[in-house]
Amino acid sequence: MTETTLPFDSKVILTLNPKKPVTMYSKIVPNSFKATKDVASYALKGQPIKPCKAMRTGVPLGITAHNTNDIPKLSGGYKTPAEQYAAATWNCNMGGAIVQYYVSPGVTWQLLSDIEQGWHSGAGSTYKTGNRGTQISGNLDTISIEIIGSSSEAEETGAILMAFLCKKHKLEPALDIYPHKFWSGKQCPIWILPRWDKFIATVKANISPAANPVSPPVTSKPDRYAVSGLTLIRAKNPQIKYVDGSKLNQPYPNYINAGFWGTFDEGITLPGANLCADIDFTKLHRLQKYYLEKVTKNGKLVFNCMDNFVKQFKGKNVSTLVIPETGKPYIKAFNGFGGAVKYGISGMPVIIGGKDASWTNDVLPQGWDSSPVYATYRNFAGIRDGEVWIIFGASKTANHISTSETFNALKGEGFSDVIALDGGGSFVVKENGKITAATTGDRRINNILTWEV
Ligand SMILES: [Zn+2]
Repeated sequence: MTETTLPFDSKVILTLNPKKPVTMYSKIVPNSFKATKDVASYALKGQPIKPCKAMRTGVPLGITAHNTNDIPKLSGGYKTPAEQYAAATWNCNMGGAIVQYYVSPGVTWQLLSDIEQGWHSGAGSTYKTGNRGTQISGNLDTISIEIIGSSSEAEETGAILMAFLCKKHKLEPALDIYPHKFWSGKQCPIWILPRWDKFIATVKANISPAANPVSPPVTSKPDRYAVSGLTLIRAKNPQIKYVDGSKLNQPYPNYINAGFWGTFDEGITLPGANLCADIDFTKLHRLQKYYLEKVTKNGKLVFNCMDNFVKQFKGKNVSTLVIPETGKPYIKAFNGFGGAVKYGISGMPVIIGGKDASWTNDVLPQGWDSSPVYATYRNFAGIRDGEVWIIFGASKTANHISTSETFNALKGEGFSDVIALDGGGSFVVKENGKITAATTGDRRINNILTWEV
């Protein structure tokens, strides 16, 4: 990931004002985070750098607007002033101040949840009579927003963020947004104060009736990481190649053995269930041509469950990863591609629509049996946020699907669908030209899934 230097927990695109989308990053400071040095008299080394308290009533009663100095020359590799301020908070360089949001043009970084107290109003825990005639406290009751610098772009982003928060927390711009000055008398937000009414009008103008102004969350995951004994790799530009050959020596820098297959006359392999793959007859055994000519066109094999050479999958709807010509990849159960797709490959369902696949109700009816689920190394293909991920590792139970072993290992990773691909003696993972995981031997396998780094 190169879009930010500071890792983030989540990222959403706020499209409340479709002409001015705002990228909202969050990296919430947890209660367990302790200062690495003295940051203030009330936040000494080893103590939390925030109040660690929920808002007084459990919900925000208002929003406090601040201005802070721009960073004309970014340092530390940070991409925006908001990111650099967020990093400075995490690095214990913000003195005793901690706020919900930093704002720079088109970008916000969130450090505190919307419903916890911060340190920003310069008035401690004191109360004032607010615009609604009730007692209210800047630090204890309001979401704090630091708009960085005097640019109109940053100010507008701040107004859009406040419009979003007003909608979300049922707040009124004219009544519930306060300048920092209201709490302590400090001349803040210094650049907005002279045009306060205009600023509030901009917030109001950005409150639209759009039903769902936020895109689905995009998780910030590294391209390769491990969880619960499994390794996960982001598969950019995934492709499926028909090989019928050595599992170790395919001429691609990144690949895994992929779909299930059977052995036929003269040792050739033929695919099981659905497979749509690039195929090069000139490199294949003559029998491949004999068997597959009818389902191949212009170098593309489109092999459906109905074309199977064993009865196992005939007429069955089998979970299949589909990489369409246009649009995002998905996993769905069917018995034939029915139309043009770029690539497709079947596997045993492990996660279906975010839920644990049932061995009896989901897997067996597809035609699978228990022979490919024993404790061994295997590959999986998963879908998360519209991307294909390769997952591999060893299972320990006799049936990793009926025991929910793989489901439990991936639970919480946010996959909508996962299928198990072939494993055991076929298992191989090649990355950057090197075999990084494989079982022994060099078995003849039928097809592989390649990707780019
Ligand atoms: Zn302020």
